[in-house]
Amino acid sequence: MNISLRKYPYPYQAMLALCSDLDETPNKDIYFETARYLNTTEQTLLGKGVGLEVGNTIYFDMPENQFSYTNTDQDGREKIHHLIDSGHIDCLHSFGDFVNSRERIKQCWADLQKGPRKIEVWIDHAQAPTNLDDGIMQGKGAVVGGNAFHTDLTIKPGGLHFIWKGRVTSIASQNVKRSYRSLFNVREPYKSGKTILIEFVKGWFARLGSVKYAMHKDNRVLRKTQLVDGTPVQEFMRCNPSWGGVSVFDSARGIHNVLTELVLNTLVENEGCSVLYSHLGKVFSVEQAFQKKTQDAFELLAAYQENRLILTATTRRLLGYCRSFEELSFIVKSVGDEVQIHLSSAYNGQDLYGLTWYADDPEKVSLYINGEYYANLQTNPADNSGRKSVSIAWLPLVFPDIKSQL
Ligand SMILES: [Zn+2]
Repeated sequence: MNISLRKYPYPYQAMLALCSDLDETPNKDIYFETARYLNTTEQTLLGKGVGLEVGNTIYFDMPENQFSYTNTDQDGREKIHHLIDSGHIDCLHSFGDFVNSRERIKQCWADLQKGPRKIEVWIDHAQAPTNLDDGIMQGKGAVVGGNAFHTDLTIKPGGLHFIWKGRVTSIASQNVKRSYRSLFNVREPYKSGKTILIEFVKGWFARLGSVKYAMHKDNRVLRKTQLVDGTPVQEFMRCNPSWGGVSVFDSARGIHNVLTELVLNTLVENEGCSVLYSHLGKVFSVEQAFQKKTQDAFELLAAYQENRLILTATTRRLLGYCRSFEELSFIVKSVGDEVQIHLSSAYNGQDLYGLTWYADDPEKVSLYINGEYYANLQTNPADNSGRKSVSIAWLPLVFPDIKSQL
C-alpha cells in the first residue's frame, strides 16, 4: 500500500497563524474582547465572533497607557493566566520596554511559570533591552554578563523553543517556492511594484551571501540557528503580504488590505504556511475598535477555514506542527492484511496533532508512535486530491470563560 505524508492536517490545504504583537493595546477590554472575537462565535464588543483559533502576545513593564501584565489590574492578570493556560496567549513579546535587570527578568519569568501551560514562543519587541537579536532588534538578551541577559533562564533550561528576531517577508506563503503573485496591486502599480522589488532584492542579497536575508531566500517558516551567545534555537520568520511593504497595513487598521482573497488564494494555491505579522491592538478607536471592513476580513479568513482550505492556528501550534513535520521519520510495514506506520518523533502529544498520511485503505492502517500503538487514529474520506487518509486528530484549543463584566 502507498503511504505518504500529507503536508497539512486533513482536510486543509494551507495553514496560517495570525501573530499579533500587542503594542499600543489601549485597555484590557479591547485586549480580552479581541481574543473572544477571534476565538469564539459569541457577541463581543468588536462584533460577532469569527470562531477561529488565534493566540496573542504579552509583555510586562510598559508605558502606562499601554495594556501589559504589569499595567493591568488583578482581574486582568487572572484572565491573562486563564489564556496562557488555554494556549491563547502563546507568545512573550520581550519582557517590555522597561525591563533591564536580571532581578526583574527573574520575577517576570517566575510569573509565567505559575500555571500548567507555559509560553514557549518569544517575539522581539521594538528596542526592548531583553530582545534576543543583537542586530536589527538591538537586543542584549543573549549578551552574556549584561543586565538584560536571560537565555540561561528562559531558553537553555527548555522554556522558550521558538524565537522571532525581527525577520518579516512580503511573500504570502512560506515553506514553498517564493512567489510574488499576491503583492501586485493594479491600482497601486508603483507602490506595490516597489514592494516586489525590495523583496526580490532581499532574495538576491541572500544569494550573494547576506546573512540578514538568508531566511528570505529559503522562504521557510523555521530554521535552526544560534543566538549571539551560542544558544541553539529555532528561529521563525513572519510575513506581511501587504502590497505597501512589510511595515504598511501591519495593524488592525490595515489588516483588511492583507487578509484579501488574492493573498488567501495564493496561500491555498501554493499550499503555503504563514505566520502573519500584525498589531491587532492598534485599533481604529477605543469606542469602535474594528470597522466593518476589519470584521469582513476576519470573516473572510473564517470562510476559508469553513471551506476546508486554510487552517488557522495559534502561532505556537503552527510552529509546533511545522517542527514535528520537518523532523519526524516513519517507516511502513505490512503485517498480513494490516499496514503499520511506525512514526519516530522527538515530540509528542499536541505537537503531533494533525499529522496525516495518505492511504488507499485507511481502515487497514495502524499507527505506532515511538514504538507505542496509537489507539485514536482517525480515518478520513477522500480530500480535494481524491485520496483517503488517516490522521492524528487536530483537536481545537478550548477557549476559557473570561467574558468581561461590562
Ligand atoms: Zn512590539
